[in-house]
Amino acid sequence: MARHLITSAIPYINGIKHLGNLVGSQLPADLYARFQRARGHEVLFLCATDEHGTPAELAAAKAGKPVAEYCAEMHEVQARLAEGFRLSFDHFGRSSSPQNHKLTQHFAGRLADAGLIREVSERQVYSNTDGRFLPDRYIEGTCPNCSYERARGDQCENCTKQLDPTDLINPRSAISGSSDLEVRETKHLYLRQSALKGDLDAWIDSKSDWPLLTTSIARKWLHDGDGLQDRGITRDLDWGIPVRRGEADWPGMEGKVFYVWFDAPIEYIACALEWVDAGKGQDWERWWRTDKGAGDVRYTQFMGKDNVPFHTLSFPATILGAGEPWKLVDHLKSFNYLNYDGGQFSTSQGRGIFQDQALEILPADYWRWWLLSNCPESSDSEFTWALFQQGVNKDLADVLGNFVSRVTKFCRSKFGETVPAGGSRGPAEETLIADLEARLQRYIAHMEAMEVRKSAQELRAIWVAGNEYLQAAAPWSTIKSDPDQAAMQIRLALNLIGFYADVSAPFIPDASARMAHALGLPAQSLPSSVEQALERLAPDASFEVPDNLFAKITDEQKTDWESRFAGPRD
Ligand SMILES: [Zn+2]
Repeated sequence: MARHLITSAIPYINGIKHLGNLVGSQLPADLYARFQRARGHEVLFLCATDEHGTPAELAAAKAGKPVAEYCAEMHEVQARLAEGFRLSFDHFGRSSSPQNHKLTQHFAGRLADAGLIREVSERQVYSNTDGRFLPDRYIEGTCPNCSYERARGDQCENCTKQLDPTDLINPRSAISGSSDLEVRETKHLYLRQSALKGDLDAWIDSKSDWPLLTTSIARKWLHDGDGLQDRGITRDLDWGIPVRRGEADWPGMEGKVFYVWFDAPIEYIACALEWVDAGKGQDWERWWRTDKGAGDVRYTQFMGKDNVPFHTLSFPATILGAGEPWKLVDHLKSFNYLNYDGGQFSTSQGRGIFQDQALEILPADYWRWWLLSNCPESSDSEFTWALFQQGVNKDLADVLGNFVSRVTKFCRSKFGETVPAGGSRGPAEETLIADLEARLQRYIAHMEAMEVRKSAQELRAIWVAGNEYLQAAAPWSTIKSDPDQAAMQIRLALNLIGFYADVSAPFIPDASARMAHALGLPAQSLPSSVEQALERLAPDASFEVPDNLFAKITDEQKTDWESRFAGPRD
């Protein structure tokens, strides 16, 4: 049994996330976690809310609530939505947890002891209109690299280049829009990432199996221009983790907090402590400390492409620099963007479909299937209501749902609600089983490689194979001339439904559970052999005809949703 530590990029706390966020990390991470559990492996799947920083303060102010209260409420909202989408986290933690406070301060202390932190007196942008220092991301302007007009002071989301606020052309406050900005003196801590460049370079070079999308982004940051820059890890804010050197005060840093990007990835580790403290697990160190049992853990991170630099450089710099045997990531799976109807999904602009809205109109499986089978892997992908309707109707309703419905209803009308006995398999069945055997192995290989779209294509082909068999076998004709033959065909088809339940569960857990339940089959791990999987339902076993698994999306619904989701969310 292998051991898989899996983390999804942690969603920010300042509101309900859209479907682009879901498919860009949490959903494929869940697919992989469910798959590895179904393979019989030991999995720890962690996610959390990312709660610090100015956007949280501003969102709380807008909601008229203290920031701690706002974050606690939004965490609950996000946790409920995650359950709604059947995201199977072993724990959904909070970066504001006491565990993360302590661990973040610990890492800062270790880095300081290793000489990897320097104090810098720096000149920072102060907004006279807003009466405060402006965090980098609250300064907007034109990107000097690509001329994108809404680049932020920390990073251009258009070209992903890391920026300083002073790099921006025509800078302005993102809070008030004011350009009445001045630069004032303040003291901050910097992580000497430049001193770790050689270590990081060697570590990236050792990852020959990583996707090009991942390594090319990391190498660009390591080598472009003057190479990897030291990074400020403190901010002048009230909300966050107070700057301490381990358990000691840090003279000169009173009233400052760690930068959200410093503490957020440390929450991946702290979340495992929360998992234990919540009574869900026993030993977090055997997942995170290579000196305490994590040597055989395979650690996979899922994230959007904009998060790659922080996961390939900043967080590993923290871990390598701390000089303790923490587990480093083995594999990063990064995603491009899902676009919405010709533009970008955007939380700040309320553009697209948000998680709560999606679950209001359709069950989770519809979304899970479409998003995963169209996930933005090798390039950006596009959500349109027409494509969504087409995918759901064709794959789920016409292929899988229709197969289940036809087989169970036909059996009920001709043989009753028990698995019919009699007949024996012939060449058509042997051909089908050989075909499915090959497809199952390809499906497992694609899932193992985290090739999400290819996995979905293979799963769809597995469903199609059953339909084609049924069409060719035509038990509705056979039954007139050879009832035993028809019984065998239907018995095989009923067993196929059981097989589909097991093999589809990582993608569509609810529908899979309904299929298994209708057949009276307990959930089981992913079959390793089709031959065996098709022997689970013995003759005379009873079953139920399930309600329609998937309703088709009508043209009327499509048109209605198109107009409902056309404008920005209120
Ligand atoms: Zn740019």
